[in-house]
Amino acid sequence: METQGRYEGLERRHVLAGEFIFREGDPGDYAYIIEEGEVEISTVIDDKPVVLNVLKQGIMFGELALVDGRTRSAAAVANTDVLLTIVTKEQVNMRVDSADPILRMLLFVVMRYFRSETSWRMHGKPLEPTANEMLTQPAIDLNRRIDQAVDLIRMESELRMAIAEKQFCLHYQPIVNLQTGAIAGFEALIRWQSPSRGFIRPDIFIALAESTSLILPIGEWVIEESGKALKAFEAAYQQPLFMSINIASRQIEEPTFIQTLVKKVKELNIENRQIKLEILERSLFNSELAQRWIQDIRKLGFLVALDDFGTGYSSLQYLNDYHLDNIKIDKSFVGGLGSKSKSSSLCAAMINLAEALEMSVIAEGIECAEQATALKELGCLFGQGYHFSRPMVFEDVLVALKQSSLPFVS
Ligand code: C2E
Ligand code: CA
Ligand code: CA
Repeated sequence: METQGRYEGLERRHVLAGEFIFREGDPGDYAYIIEEGEVEISTVIDDKPVVLNVLKQGIMFGELALVDGRTRSAAAVANTDVLLTIVTKEQVNMRVDSADPILRMLLFVVMRYFRSETSWRMHGKPLEPTANEMLTQPAIDLNRRIDQAVDLIRMESELRMAIAEKQFCLHYQPIVNLQTGAIAGFEALIRWQSPSRGFIRPDIFIALAESTSLILPIGEWVIEESGKALKAFEAAYQQPLFMSINIASRQIEEPTFIQTLVKKVKELNIENRQIKLEILERSLFNSELAQRWIQDIRKLGFLVALDDFGTGYSSLQYLNDYHLDNIKIDKSFVGGLGSKSKSSSLCAAMINLAEALEMSVIAEGIECAEQATALKELGCLFGQGYHFSRPMVFEDVLVALKQSSLPFVS
């Protein structure tokens, strides 16, 4: 007889002495932590029962099958009356899923090795999954995850080479003063042309670069390259411009970042106020550090814009806590202008709010004239999007600026 139920908020299970907790070949639905009593782990070799281990209070067991989705490779029997805390598949998988993908792969590889070693020791043969086991969803998922992690490691080393081999390039998208029609500045958007993979979208490789700190040398290159471009664009346009640069949280955390930025901008003979740093709401998560960083950087005269505004969870709180120059209304709001009446009210509210807090607004993702007109009428100062221009390579921007061929160049 055994009981299972809630105990102090946790799922517990009582098992009487001599009873099975699970048998070899059972599905691995739960892992267990021994709270009281003693558990024996055993298997059958050459038709004879063999005890593999005797586990005591505080030990977890049964977790392997939970993670790799295979059936139990041994049986667990209560040696005495035992009290167990049940660990569910969801509890474990939630954590495994949110772990770094490389760590996850290492976990799976070590688990496979451990299973195989155990099989050699017990049965004198490697663990060969049966054809049926190979086709189960957990086995398929596991192989897919391992493949993904291996690919990520490959991509990481390719990313290292990409810096040395100059495989990155910047595209520049004009930011227009909606009220006058003049170009106010550009946003630098990075591209990676990998010789083996082709074009890779920034949202994919920037996340990887951030998790490996490769974003630091990449970020320095972006500052230098876009700074040079800014000088050339100004010379062609004959009017002051700014350059917006996207900054990842890892760069904010880097103590030498501000120093490096100041040095580079000085070398390029650019005014600090011509550089606008675009940061994402989620970078403000480490609030104390970010608050100090924004203060320091603005004191030096650089501009700071909050990117993708409205898509995070505590946008209004951020506005209260941080002093910023611009907020960038996310394209999801701009896209709904005209068709969804709510988007129009939300854009109006964001523009009024920014004005009250002495910030100006950049609307991104403007794709048609109606959206541009609506935003202009709402008093939005800056706009950016395919309606004006797609992001362009350096040479095309220069030609367009010299020939005043962009439709909005006044
Ligand atoms: P973001 O900063 O929000 O950049 C705007 C994205 O919207 C760009 O995508 C741009 O090409 C796209 N876009 C511009 N106009 C329109 C439009 O009218 N409609 C639509 N649907 N999209 C438009 P992209 O270039 O693929 O960049 C994606 C993200 O990658 C950027 O989002 C930014 O977060 C990140 N990123 C790009 N370059 C850098 C970089 O140098 N450093 C860092 N840390 N992140 C970067
Ligand atoms: Ca941006
Ligand atoms: Ca954005």
